[in-house]
Amino acid sequence: MRKLQLHWQILIAFICAIILGFITRAIGAANPGLAETLLQGYNFVGTLFINALKMLIVPLIFFSIGAGVANTGGQHFGRLGGKTLLYYVCTSGLAALIGVLMVAIVQPGIVNGQPAREMLGLDQQELGATFEERIEGRSFADLKDVFISMVPPNVVKAAAEGQMLGLIFFSILLGFFSTRLEKQHSEFLRTFLDSMFQLMMQITHWVMMFAPLGVLALVARVIAETGFDTFIPLAKFLTAVFGGLLLHMFVLMPLVLVFVARVNPIRHYQAMAPAMLTAFSTSSSAATLPVTMDCVENRAGISNRVTSFVLPMGATVNMDGTALFEVVAVLFLVQAYGEPLTFVTMISVAILALVTSIGVAAVPSASLVAIVLILGNFGIPASAAALILAIDRLPDMTRTVNNIFGDSVGAVVIAKSEGEDIYGSGSSAPA
Ligand code: ASP
Repeated sequence: MRKLQLHWQILIAFICAIILGFITRAIGAANPGLAETLLQGYNFVGTLFINALKMLIVPLIFFSIGAGVANTGGQHFGRLGGKTLLYYVCTSGLAALIGVLMVAIVQPGIVNGQPAREMLGLDQQELGATFEERIEGRSFADLKDVFISMVPPNVVKAAAEGQMLGLIFFSILLGFFSTRLEKQHSEFLRTFLDSMFQLMMQITHWVMMFAPLGVLALVARVIAETGFDTFIPLAKFLTAVFGGLLLHMFVLMPLVLVFVARVNPIRHYQAMAPAMLTAFSTSSSAATLPVTMDCVENRAGISNRVTSFVLPMGATVNMDGTALFEVVAVLFLVQAYGEPLTFVTMISVAILALVTSIGVAAVPSASLVAIVLILGNFGIPASAAALILAIDRLPDMTRTVNNIFGDSVGAVVIAKSEGEDIYGSGSSAPA
């Protein structure tokens, strides 16, 4: 019998997880003890899966970039870096503008013609311990810190703390200078880095065999814990968020694929399906990185040279979904507090969101730190963000999908501009 393709397996697990989540909620009403045991079970399996993915991040970045640079002799790297950064800034900026557009259309902070401040009990919100707990360790770096973190004083510490830019820079140096050694050494290092990279990819494939189980546990837990009741008072805000994320995913990205890269978007959605479902379940672009790299390289057929550079950098600096979400969240609160949404306010928030999205860590709920920071510029108490945190699960899962999909489209555009034949006869992309 033919084995079901991985993305179908994950999709089926995803649907089962929604059903399981609701069943667990129903059990919780009658027998809270049993529901708690089930939740702990989901948590156990989900954490194992996320840990297995995270375990691969550091060696994967290190060896894939090292091998990528060593194989090309480090040539044209400056050009590749420049193009990648330009693409990322442009698309994140456009995503932030989609956020502005959605707020202008939906007016999420106004309910029944009045600013929603009182209705939403914004003044009674407290950040409290939950907020501290949820955003604990969500380091936020401003633009200067982002540059400084590229040259870490201790590369092992940078790797341990998940500071990917420092690791990327070190790996580039390693690959580059390996090509400057005597032939015997450089040949050995090239083969070694290449073999280690192939090994990491094999382990990624193995971990991905457990993805349906991981997704089942992670999604069932979210549904069981959250349900949908908490979302109703914030329906307008969520309409603006999801509307914007859908526009980004199904209008902006396909336009870039068709007109800039000349690639069929449907084929790219198909190729990226496992990574998108993993991002949705884990809410972390960093944890999803091994899967994103696997999909872009093995399903979209993009070279290791481009993949190894564009994707780790993208997971850190390119967050389209996050920029869009920050804009909608901040403007929603500004409007709910009765401040007028002038053109200048909207554009300043978009610019701040673009810049802060670069420094936001690629982990769950990380953008909350940036939102609190931007709110400060408008004299809005940080405690107002507690309202967003309370319902952040689903938006976080969704915007993480936009984040990694944006990175993958970046890889397609850059690979095309380097003359690669994507989804062409030579690629191993799914039909
Ligand atoms: N969870 C997002 C990510 O990892 C970051 C955020 O917007 O909170 O991509």
